[in-house]
Amino acid sequence: LAEVLEHEQHLPSKTPDGHAMPLMVNTGLAVDAVALLKPRISGVGLYRTEVPFMIAERFPGEQEQARLYRDQLESFAPLPVVMRTLDIGGDKDLPYFPIHEANPFLGWRGIRVTLDHPEVLMVQLRAMLRASDGLGNLQILLPMITNVDEVDAALRLLDRALVELAEEGIALERPLVGVMIEVPATLYQLEALAARVDFFSVGSNDLTQYLLAVDRNNPRVADLYDACHPAVLAALARLADEVARLGMPTSVCGELAGDPGGALLLMGMGFDALSMNAPSLPRVRAAIRRVSLDAARTLVDDTLQLPTPTAVRSHLAARFGEWQ
Ligand code: PEP
Ligand code: MG
Repeated sequence: LAEVLEHEQHLPSKTPDGHAMPLMVNTGLAVDAVALLKPRISGVGLYRTEVPFMIAERFPGEQEQARLYRDQLESFAPLPVVMRTLDIGGDKDLPYFPIHEANPFLGWRGIRVTLDHPEVLMVQLRAMLRASDGLGNLQILLPMITNVDEVDAALRLLDRALVELAEEGIALERPLVGVMIEVPATLYQLEALAARVDFFSVGSNDLTQYLLAVDRNNPRVADLYDACHPAVLAALARLADEVARLGMPTSVCGELAGDPGGALLLMGMGFDALSMNAPSLPRVRAAIRRVSLDAARTLVDDTLQLPTPTAVRSHLAARFGEWQ
């Protein structure tokens, strides 16, 4: 199996009936190893910028951040690199910016922190923009969006950063901006969100955690945490239909996209791209190359009828076990 997978890595991510399913990679730290994948992927679907912040001893300055971001953008250019603004809080703490809360996953997290500290977000946005000068492959993703006015506030800061840089002699076009669909409230505000940004990226990890009210990291309830829960799949299917109606490019960057069965379901639902950790690429590509789009759609229809996560998992395993 390992040999087959390796052999297929340079082949297109395309179903037997010719449907292309772009695969992207999630990054966080050293770019070198992942950059070797460039010929096999469609870009970076999620660069978690908090990772370099977590190993630093203080907030990295604008120059330092710009260097890191330039490295990412250059390594993958001309492919798109989706950089997410700092997503700290929840389980991700910075040693030099501790947050103590009773319910961190429901608290000060992601965009909530950075909008309360616009000076932090401005440095990051300026660094991203400066890093993109002459490359044009930067896309910016906003995490933990709950309300549309958070998007408006972030866009105002982005526009201010663009004006500042223009005044400093760096004239740039506004990069594409996306919103993470990971707080369930966004599922009911898709039209208003779509009117404000250019793309959506589904964070199935947090969407699962918040839809099921199950802490994604708590071993006591780990059995309950499953992105293949019928409610999560129903939400994703409905989301895929609605974004298609809105004409909104939408990818999935949570763990479900890196699970072969999950990837087939997401393809069948109609998502535009899948972004995953590098080690998941071979098996997802192999699964896509063996299952027609029609079969994936049938799989979705059948799976949506099943009453439990266990039934969904067994159904996927029965059909695609060898690639799981
Ligand atoms: C997600 O929530 O699915 C996601 C991709 O973001 P993170 O895992 O970094 O919260
Ligand atoms: Mg998330």
